[in-house]
Amino acid sequence: QAKQEGRGCFRYFSEKLTRAARERIHLEARLHQALSLGQLRVHYQAQLDIADGRIIGAEALVRWQDPDEGLIAPERFIPVAETTGMIGEIGHWVLTQTCRQGQAWIAAGLAPMTLAVNLSPRQFLHGDICALVEGALAETGFPAERLTLELTEGALMECGDEAVQILKRLRRLGVRLAIDDFGTGYSSLACLKHFPLDVLKIDRSFISDIPFQPDDMAIAAAIVTMGHTLGFKVLAEGVETNAQLAFLKAQGCDLYQGYLASRPLPADAFERLLAPAADPLDA
Ligand code: C2E
Ligand code: MG
Ligand code: MG
Ligand code: MG
Repeated sequence: QAKQEGRGCFRYFSEKLTRAARERIHLEARLHQALSLGQLRVHYQAQLDIADGRIIGAEALVRWQDPDEGLIAPERFIPVAETTGMIGEIGHWVLTQTCRQGQAWIAAGLAPMTLAVNLSPRQFLHGDICALVEGALAETGFPAERLTLELTEGALMECGDEAVQILKRLRRLGVRLAIDDFGTGYSSLACLKHFPLDVLKIDRSFISDIPFQPDDMAIAAAIVTMGHTLGFKVLAEGVETNAQLAFLKAQGCDLYQGYLASRPLPADAFERLLAPAADPLDA
């Protein structure tokens, strides 16, 4: 009886696995198509100075505009793209598209901003990321010092010394570097001090329960202090309430992004945030 159930159980799992594998292959094929049909989009989420509420830039976040399914979130396709290697093409497209948009905003006379692009660990560790970034900047004319690259702890820790070398080369191009989702990975603090970073982003999971979770508040405060000690600017992700913002401001956190200020928006909608429509009474 038990044996019987055991076998059934195995079959159930193996069917589930096959289905998962099939779904992945299907998604991969559709993703290839999406890229060639121009169905990927970049949305922009404002990053603000906590002290004065000014928009200092935006994070570029990829979306997939599927004609049938609508807007598909990156969490559904980035992991697949990572395992199949397609992340290289997607990442290249997002980087170039963001730099092009940034240069268009500069040409339109909008206030100078920094644009942040996420790099996947695979992009960072394999392939010549420096040449890729240099190429995108040259092709679009976007100034290096306006570009921030966001890396995760995983990418940095995995290759230790080699990561430090890549970071230094990227820095020499003039771009800025941020560590994303800080506190969720396994960064060793000893390593962190060797990384030439500009911005440390506190993961949303430490922000969301402020002011109801004393532990999270203590962690967020400690990360701000530590980031400053190492000479980094500290940015809080996922700020949704005024209470969270007030707490972070009191801790001396430098920057924030989150639904409180704005969701990620298509380029034209983000642009309207930067340049509010003229007051009709002035006309
Ligand atoms: P991330 O880089 O940590 O981006 C922040 C995520 O938090 C975004 O989700 C953003 O929409 C969301 N977020 C921002 N503020 C709030 C808030 O106040 N509340 C809540 N609940 N969420 C907030 P999104 O756009 O779905 O992206 C998810 C992840 O997908 C990103 O996390 C990043 O790791 C990855 N990703 C997005 N675009 C790219 C890309 O172009 N390349 C790579 N490699 N990864 C990307
Ligand atoms: Mg990010
Ligand atoms: Mg993040
Ligand atoms: Mg995240």
